Parts: sequence; structure tokens; C-alpha cells
Amino acid sequence: MAEEERMAGSMLSIGECMVELMQVEGGMLRKGYAGDTFNTAYYARLFAPAGWTVEYLTAVGTDVVSDEMLSFIEGTGVGTAHIARIEGRMPGLYMIHLKEGERSFSYWRSTSAAKLLADDPDRLRTAIGSADVVFFSGITLAILAADAVETLLSELRRAKATGKRVVFDPNIRPRLWDDVARMRATIEAGARAATLLLPSFDDEATHFGDASVGSTIERYHALGVADIAVKDGANGVTLQFGGEERLHIPAAPVARIVDTTSAGDSFNGSFLARLAAGDSPAEAAAFAAHVAAAVIGHHGALVEREKLPGGPDR
Ligand code: ADP
Repeated sequence: MAEEERMAGSMLSIGECMVELMQVEGGMLRKGYAGDTFNTAYYARLFAPAGWTVEYLTAVGTDVVSDEMLSFIEGTGVGTAHIARIEGRMPGLYMIHLKEGERSFSYWRSTSAAKLLADDPDRLRTAIGSADVVFFSGITLAILAADAVETLLSELRRAKATGKRVVFDPNIRPRLWDDVARMRATIEAGARAATLLLPSFDDEATHFGDASVGSTIERYHALGVADIAVKDGANGVTLQFGGEERLHIPAAPVARIVDTTSAGDSFNGSFLARLAAGDSPAEAAAFAAHVAAAVIGHHGALVEREKLPGGPDR
């Protein structure tokens, strides 16, 4: 009991979950639900310590598709109390095309309900205020209008100032931004609002010109982020937590890469869950590397619990 009380806490992930349509045999489509911040919430929930809750903050419509998405989210154990319902809007949608083993994507998201997720500052403040850990991404920022970005970031800066862990994955997707200079400036503003950054080196090298993982760490440190874990695919993860020694955690072996979707998201969610459980950053990253390796050995963004490594609390 005392143990449970000590461990109780909550994590809030903020962003867009979309309907996913995947082409299967015979021209049929299989429906699913995914999105970077939801995937992260899903894996955080799977590995969260006893007593921890994981909530998702987004906006959906009042239509049947939105109802089904909410039921799906509830079914995963992720909380929906902070999901707004907006009359006349619907969830975004994307389709995965598979051609000779190569995946490509089409999106219908330009008028999705989630673009309005930060329109109500009071709602944001209440949700963020009730969380111990808040997670958001560069995709969250990319879908918002400029004034909504500012509303969200000012609430996150407030959370950072009150000592909460604010976690940002830049997840840089240039096609979501119409202006590269605004993309870079907004990603940097997101980083300034964060206490823990979870970038992927590939993206940072491409869009910020970082020559090494070390330069990514130094660039974000200079923006005031205390803790950084740079993901680098099969090269593993480099951790710089505060002024502690820089550590490299190797990736876990993968017998056969089936689908790399959600490698980064599953790493993020399981890493945050294990930090919440009190693991050291190195322990949490080693565990998350095993989860990510198992996820890329299976199809789909949301891999079932049974196919993943055991968490210490199970
Ligand atoms: P993202 O999906 O955000 O681009 P990465 O590709 O860096 O992120 O992958 C996230 C994590 O997934 C890595 O830190 C690593 O633990 C694991 N991972 C990714 N690719 C591989 C791989 N080929 N072999 C083993 N682990 C991998």
C-alpha cells in the first residue's frame, strides 16, 4: 500500500491520433488508430508502474468515427478524460500503401479535430496541472495554428517552471510545415519548454545539420534542456542527464526487421514508464531498447503486450 502510494502518478501525452487504413489482400482495408503521441501513450501505459495512469489529450469530433476512436483508446487503458469533442470536426485519417515491401502514406488531416486541441487554455492548464509528466512532439506543434502553438507552449513553460517533467520528441516531419525556418524555430521553442528531450539523430542531422550525436546534445543543452536521450536506430541511444557522465546504451538485437513503425514511439513510452518507476536513465533506456527491438520485429504501430519483453512490475 505504502509502495503504491509512493509510486502513484500520472503522465499526459498531447497530440493527434488518426484513423489508419492499411491495404491488405484483395484491395481490402484494415482500420486501426495511431499517431506518434498516442503510440507513446500506449507504450507508456503498457509498462507504467502500478498506481500510474496515462492520459491522452487531443480533440475529436462528435461523429461515429470519433466515438469508435475513443472506445479504442479506452480499450488500451489510456485515459480519455482530457479529450475534447468538437461538433462538426472529425479525426484525421491516413492510408498505408504497400508496394513491393515499400510503404508510402496518404494523409487526410488538414481539417482534423486535433488541430484545435490547444484552443482552450483553461482545459490545457487543468490537464497539464494534474499530470506529473507531460509529453508532446514536433508533430503536435506542426498541426497547430501559430497562436495555438503559443498557447500550448506557454502552458508547458509554466509546467516546466513548476518542476514537472516536460518531455519533447522533435519528430521532425518537413511535409507538415510550409516553411522550414518556422519549422526550425518552432522545434527550438518546443525544446526550450522541455526538461527532457528525445530526438532521433537522423532527423536532427538532416534538418539542423548536426555532424554527430554529441552536437545534437550540445545544441539542445544550449537551449536549456537539462536531460537528453538521442535515439540513433541500430546505433543505440546516447544519454546526457544533467551534468552526469554521458552514456551510450546499445540497441538490442533484432532477429528480423518486420516493420520499423513506432520504433521511436515505443522507445519513448517504455523509457518514460521505467523512469516513472524509478529506474536510472541507463536502466530505463536499456529496457526501452528491448521493447523497441521487439516492436520492429512485428507488424503495426501498436504491438500487443504478449509479444513484448516483461516489465519488472508484471
Ligand atoms: P525513430 O523511429 O524515432 O526514428 P530510431 O530509428 O532512432 O527512432 O529508433 C528508436 C529506437 O528503436 C532506437 O533507439 C533503438 O533502440 C531501436 N531501434 C531502431 N532501429 C533499430 C534496429 N535496426 N535494430 C535495433 N534496434 C533498433
